[in-house]
Parts: sequence; C-alpha cells; structure tokens
Amino acid sequence: MNFEGQKLEYATMRRISVLNVRKYNERFAIIYFEDKYVSRSVPGQYIMVWIPGCDEIPLSVSHSEDGVCAVTVKNVGEATSRLCNVSIGEELGVRGPFGHGFKCMGAKPLIVAGGVGIAGLRLLLYKFVRKSVLPTLIVGTKTFEENIFHEEFLKLSENRLLIYHPVTEDGSLGEKGLASEVAEKLILSNEFDQVYCCGPEKMLYNMFNIVLDKKIGSQFLLERYIKCAVGICGQCVLDDEGLLVCKDGPVFTKNVLKRIKDFGHFSRNACGKKFPL
Ligand SMILES: Cc1cc2nc3c(=O)[nH]c(=O)nc-3n(C[C@H](O)[C@H](O)[C@H](O)COP(=O)(O)OP(=O)(O)OC[C@H]3O[C@@H](n4cnc5c(N)ncnc54)[C@H](O)[C@@H]3O)c2cc1C
Repeated sequence: MNFEGQKLEYATMRRISVLNVRKYNERFAIIYFEDKYVSRSVPGQYIMVWIPGCDEIPLSVSHSEDGVCAVTVKNVGEATSRLCNVSIGEELGVRGPFGHGFKCMGAKPLIVAGGVGIAGLRLLLYKFVRKSVLPTLIVGTKTFEENIFHEEFLKLSENRLLIYHPVTEDGSLGEKGLASEVAEKLILSNEFDQVYCCGPEKMLYNMFNIVLDKKIGSQFLLERYIKCAVGICGQCVLDDEGLLVCKDGPVFTKNVLKRIKDFGHFSRNACGKKFPL
C-alpha cells in the first residue's frame, strides 16, 4: 500500500499515545488512538502494535472515525493481556496499515464473524451502511459476553441499516449453534452476492465449503503468525503457493483459497514449524 509521496513512512514504527480504553470485561478491550496512516485503513487491513518490553502483534483496525482509530483486543496471552490493561496516556508503537483488505462489493452482502473476528469486519460493515447497502450480519460467539458489539448492532438493525443475527454456542444470545450453520441456512433462502468472513480458521473453512460450489463471491480474512508484516521473513507463508498472509492477504478470495493446501488444515508456530489445526 502506497501513500502518495510518503511511500514507506506508513511501514515504519510510530509512537502513539492511548487516547481512551473501553474495557468490556477481563477478556476484551477497545484501544483508541490517533495516527494519520492508520485512520486511512481499508476494511480488513491490520497494523502491527508494539507493546514496549513485551512484543509486537498484528491486530485488525476495527474503528476509524474523524482521525481517531481503534483496535479491538481479545486477551489470549501475554501481549493481548498487556493491551487489555493499558492506561490512557500510555505509549505504544504502531506500523501499518498492512496487507490487502476486503473489496467492498455486492448489493446483497452477507458478513459472517466468529468471536473477535468481528474486529476485522466492523469497518466493512460501516462502509456498506454509508453506501446505503443493507448488509446481513451474523456474529457467532461462545456466550453472550463475547459479543461485545451486540448493543451497537442491535441499534443499527432497529434503524433498518442492518439485518442482524447474533448466534451463540450455549444459546445465551440469539440462535443457538454455530455462525456457519446459521449462514448455511440463510444462504439457501437468500440471494447473497458476496460473503465476507473473519474468525477461527475452522469457521472459515466451513464457510469456504458452503460457498465453494455456489455462484457467490467470497472473501476470507486469514490469520497466521506475523512477524515482519512486509513480506521479508516468510513466517506467514502458505503452502503450496508460497503466498504470504502479511502482504498477499490477510484477505483472500475463495478462488485463491482453493489452491492453498494449508488452508483449514495447517498453520505455523512462532518458529515457522507447521502444525495441524
Ligand atoms: C491479520 C491479523 C489480524 C488480527 N486481528 C486481531 C484483532 O483484531 N483482535 C485480536 O484480539 N486478535 C487479532 N489477531 C490475533 C492476535 O494477533 C493474537 O491473538 C496475538 O498475537 C496473541 O499474542 P499474545 O502474546 O497475547 O498471545 P500468545 O500466547 O503469544 O499467543 C496466543 C495465540 O496467538 C498467536 N500469536 C501470537 N503472536 C502472534 C503474531 N505475531 N501473529 C499472529 N498470531 C500470533 C499464537 O500463535 C497463539 O495461537 C490478528 C491476527 C492476524 C494475523
């Protein structure tokens, strides 16, 4: 991604100061900050966030409005725990935005999010709303506490800007089951022209198999262990094609994923060693 006249600046580390933190519970937080490059992110792009003394990790850009951006973090380990507990005014580093995001297309889009995968889809959802296209959104989580944007999406659906289907595995909110199960039913009874997915790879793979033989365009945000983010280290390579999630993705179409043997089956750990999903 090139910004006119500032071709590499976006890829170098900038110091940012945390403007605000919205903590939902011990496991989820939204961290707000200002950065001129991040605020120009395309939906589905990610940034590298450096936590001094800890680690640098990839996170989707979930918010961008009036120059203020945010990332939405689920606490799953050391770096994300540190981020979920940052204070206003604390300094972090950011690089990016990186990668190819979603192509916002279609007159009848279906957006399917699993867990914190909604972070990578939220900007896309608002892009459709701004274009006066009515998206259908499925948000699948284990329990209602994990659907942190529920109130926001409910309001959009009450204002007829969104058709919203919350789904939980334990039935504590919306339909009981998996996001992909609800998506499969909706796809059979609607004429969606584009499907967008982000979430655990098992869910992406289910969605991929559902749309594989259908005449529906589809885009999937894939996660891999990302280090350099600029296509140099090869850590996030996908077999057999040698595509790199950091720069060729993280969003891939169904037609590209058809050729990726790793998709749905293997990932790589921090050392680059392959392991079965
Ligand atoms: C393109 C992309 C977008 C992402 N967007 C979000 C988001 O918006 N919100 C969110 O909460 N999470 C997101 N993630 C996942 C997030 O990067 C990991 O949860 C985070 O790196 C875990 O770090 P940790 O130290 O807390 O946990 P660890 O204990 O180090 O690891 C926990 C899990 O996270 C994975 N992980 C660790 N480091 C990395 C890394 N550098 N790159 C990728 N995975 C890693 C590990 O393989 C392991 O499966 C995204 C990942 C990618 C690749």
